[in-house]
Amino acid sequence: MTKLCLHPTVLLRRWRLGCGVRPLALALLMAATAHGFGQSAQPLAVVATVGMVADVVRGVGGPCVEVTTLMGPGIDPHLFRASAGDVERLSRAELIVYNGFNLEGQLGAVLARVGQRVATLPLSERIAAMADGHTRLVEGDGDYAGRADPHLWGAADLWARGIDVVADELARMRPACEPALRERAERLREQYLALHAWALASSATVPASWRTLVTSHDAFEYFGAAYGFDVAGIEGISTESEASIADIRDTADLVIASGVPAIFIETTISPRTIEAVRAAVRDRGGDVVIGGTLFGDAMGDAGTPEGTYVGMLRHNVTTVVEALGGRVAPWPAELASWSEAWAQP
Ligand SMILES: [Zn+2]
Repeated sequence: MTKLCLHPTVLLRRWRLGCGVRPLALALLMAATAHGFGQSAQPLAVVATVGMVADVVRGVGGPCVEVTTLMGPGIDPHLFRASAGDVERLSRAELIVYNGFNLEGQLGAVLARVGQRVATLPLSERIAAMADGHTRLVEGDGDYAGRADPHLWGAADLWARGIDVVADELARMRPACEPALRERAERLREQYLALHAWALASSATVPASWRTLVTSHDAFEYFGAAYGFDVAGIEGISTESEASIADIRDTADLVIASGVPAIFIETTISPRTIEAVRAAVRDRGGDVVIGGTLFGDAMGDAGTPEGTYVGMLRHNVTTVVEALGGRVAPWPAELASWSEAWAQP
């Protein structure tokens, strides 16, 4: 019995506790431990605002995280307003990962308030702040003049830079997970960079004279800069102000002048403005087709290939390249496991 009383803690002796109260002291100690180091056994509760951000966190975090996505498919993050339930979800998280650069414009006040108690990570802003200075930021115009365009996920090499940002943060919060996090980060980087190389090779097949991408709003500036397209978004960078008649007229003029055969709808924005551009082009005696629907600010449905970042960009590149007269490159071997998982060719 004596041996048991001396074993194991300083705590017991400091509190001068006898053998009789040892179980209580041990219970207190265990409770304290569960609150501290023991947390690493539980997946980190993360709320991600948009799917593209959630994909990085899930890809890096694996079983070390449990990720909830606040804005689902078809939700426009520029206009999204949090419900009481959303605020509660955010408040219960251990970490909130959002894009930043004002993408989640209406959510800013909520993030600032909840962020006083919950750790937050503005992924695109952290990518931009990386010390190596390799991030190519696009400056916005209109309402975004002088500020960074927030749609960094359009370029897969740029988005891949967020992998280490996320891995660092998750490792800080779950140190026991670090080796697994680093390994998963390395594999995810390989996939994103293979996707980037494939997107480059595919885009290179589009005739030079048709390298103009006309979409509902300016979500594709990083995509265009990376893969060689001039981008014309009718509504500008944010969708908070609607397209004017002048915007539609100017875009129709651009379509006729450039001779592009196709223009594109986005999943989060009403097709009305793109259809109005098509009508205006026809009024001027020209013609243009709707080349398909692109994922601008949200991914596809969960459980579909486009519900992943790889599948979303693959869809966008395939849609744009084929509608503008190019041919997609062979799918890279590094992404064979992705194709297998989603039963894609
Ligand atoms: Zn946008």
